[in-house]
Amino acid sequence: MRHGNLFVISGPSGAGKGTLVARLLRAVPDAWVSVSVTTRVPRAGEVDGVHYHFATDAEFQHLVDEDGLLEWATYAGNRYGTPRAEVEERMAQGDQVVLEIDVQGAFQVREKMPQAHLVFVEPPSMEVLEARLRGRGTESDEVIASRLRAARVELARKMEYDVRLVNDDLDEAADELVRFVNEQAEGSRG
Ligand code: 5GP
Repeated sequence: MRHGNLFVISGPSGAGKGTLVARLLRAVPDAWVSVSVTTRVPRAGEVDGVHYHFATDAEFQHLVDEDGLLEWATYAGNRYGTPRAEVEERMAQGDQVVLEIDVQGAFQVREKMPQAHLVFVEPPSMEVLEARLRGRGTESDEVIASRLRAARVELARKMEYDVRLVNDDLDEAADELVRFVNEQAEGSRG
């Protein structure tokens, strides 16, 4: 029987996870990425329901209370979580389900679903990471400092992941990610 696989992609904000996941979705037709819920304010250009479901603290708490989230965590002062229902539906349909979430969330998922594949995306260096965060031009110095602190905490756990990708060459890193997903998916595709 066809059954889906679960891929958790983590790595510091600015490591390039979003771009890699976008490449993965283009290259793997049965890949699907979950849209998270967050209490963070939208960045310029972010669309509710596409990049995130933007929620108030009370709305987020309601989801936690009704067990509507597969995992959730506080990251750099905001809460983020994965809506449970759609992930379970997509898994049952046999899709390659992708979660782009932080390290705290990744290990909650591993606890609940030990078959999940954990992929860590590393920036080439802290200097490159900082340059990318500043280059984005959307965040204050304070927010950037908080994200760099969070990045150090995340990098300290990279060895606990199943796979690590260093994102110095985007094409190479994307190819590696696509290859890994297809390898894992092979046995489960009908
Ligand atoms: P950003 O604010 O840059 O969009 O995301 C900040 C961090 O939160 C990133 O590391 C991102 O992967 C993570 N994140 C996004 N959605 C979720 C989620 O649903 N759960 C968890 N635990 N982390 C998430």
